[in-house]
Formats: sequence, C-alpha cells, structure tokens
Amino acid sequence: MKKEPGVFDSSVARVMQIIGRKISGMELPAIEKISEGQQKDPFQILIATLLSARTKDETTLAASTRLFKKAPTALAVAALTVKQIEKLIYPVGFYRNKAVFVKATSKALVAKFGGLVPSTLDQLVTLPGVGRKTANLVLILAFGSETSICVDIHVHRISNRLGWVQTRDPEATEQALYRVIDARWWPLVNLYLVTWGQNVCRPVYPRCGDCAISSDCRRVGVERVGRFRA
Ligand code: SF4
Repeated sequence: MKKEPGVFDSSVARVMQIIGRKISGMELPAIEKISEGQQKDPFQILIATLLSARTKDETTLAASTRLFKKAPTALAVAALTVKQIEKLIYPVGFYRNKAVFVKATSKALVAKFGGLVPSTLDQLVTLPGVGRKTANLVLILAFGSETSICVDIHVHRISNRLGWVQTRDPEATEQALYRVIDARWWPLVNLYLVTWGQNVCRPVYPRCGDCAISSDCRRVGVERVGRFRA
C-alpha cells in the first residue's frame, strides 16, 4: 500500500525525526524492553502485550518475568492452571480475566499453530483476547513487519492532538494513519508516540511548553497543559 504524497509529509517527517532523537534518553515502553530482553521471542512478546493493558510498565515487566521464568513457552503456559497464572501475573490490571486469556491463547497456539505464534494479522486476531493493537505490535516487534501500525491509546491521542487524524477510536486512527503517514514511519509510530505519550504528551496536562515538536502540533483538544520542566 503506497501512500500518495500528502500535506502532512514534511511535518510528519520532522516530528518523527525529532522524537527519534529525543527519546534516546527516555524510559522505553515495557514491551520494547521485553522484546529486547527476550531476543524477540514472539510468544513472550504476545503474552506480555496481553498483560500490559491498563497496567503500569514496571508491573507488566515484573509479571512477565515471573511467568516466563516458570513457563517460557505456549506449551508450558497451557499446562498451568488459571489459578497458577493468576498468582504469577498478579498485580497486573484485570489479572483474573487476563489469566483466562493467557491460558486460552496458549492452548489455541498449541492446538492450532503447533505451539508457535502465527505471523499474519488474520491468524493472530483469532486468538482469545488478541485484537488489532496486540496483533500489530507482535508483527512489528517479533516479525519485523514494515507494513503495520500499532495504535494504542497514546498513539490515538497524540495523532489527534497533532492534527494528523480526526478519529474517535484507535481502530479508525490506524486506518487513517496508513493514509496520512509515509510507510517508512509505520513500524516506528508506536515506539515513538508511546514513549512521547508517557514522558511529554501525557493524557492529562501535556507538557506543551517543554515539547520539542510543539511548532508542528495543532494541540487539538488540549485545554490545560502541565508545568514546564526547570
Ligand atoms: S505540543 Fe502539547 S499536545 Fe502537542 S505533542 Fe507536544 S505535548 Fe502533545
């Protein structure tokens, strides 16, 4: 899918280049750390992404580490009871529901894919608890996809604040971003905007006065900003 040249191209390129430089000293999202630490193991990236929803990064990292120490493969996790998984992943948000999904997904991987994580979006979204966000992140981090954009709540929020898209939900944002962003940026959008969203363009009180991309930002919907850093 090749995008036609668009009005945002130079602005998007400037924003991505600036963020790329600025995030080098910032804390990376937990999934990126897990991905690097686990040699891009698709199963562990998939499960860690499932655990990360509505959970602080450090909690996701600790819970994933405990789970994979005990059960590093789909076969091993499928053999655990839901109670055992609950205990290992506590206190991630919604740990009871997530334990059910983690076991069901591991069982499905064993039953349908020989214990391996499939490498297509269509197959990934057949797994219990796996939506487009998780599937796209697994494709990018584990399989090096250059044709996927992973849109979570940070990417959705910042893309709208910047004025790149005008969308109501992450799925619409993903489709709109394919149209307005040059393909070379697609695999980087998640890492860059999630890191920016956790450190600068936070959900409440974004640090607009201290933001290196403010001259390219329309600040759509931003009413109150946070304190500048000294
Ligand atoms: S200027 Fe403000 S709203 Fe725009 S990206 Fe920066 S922090 Fe976010």
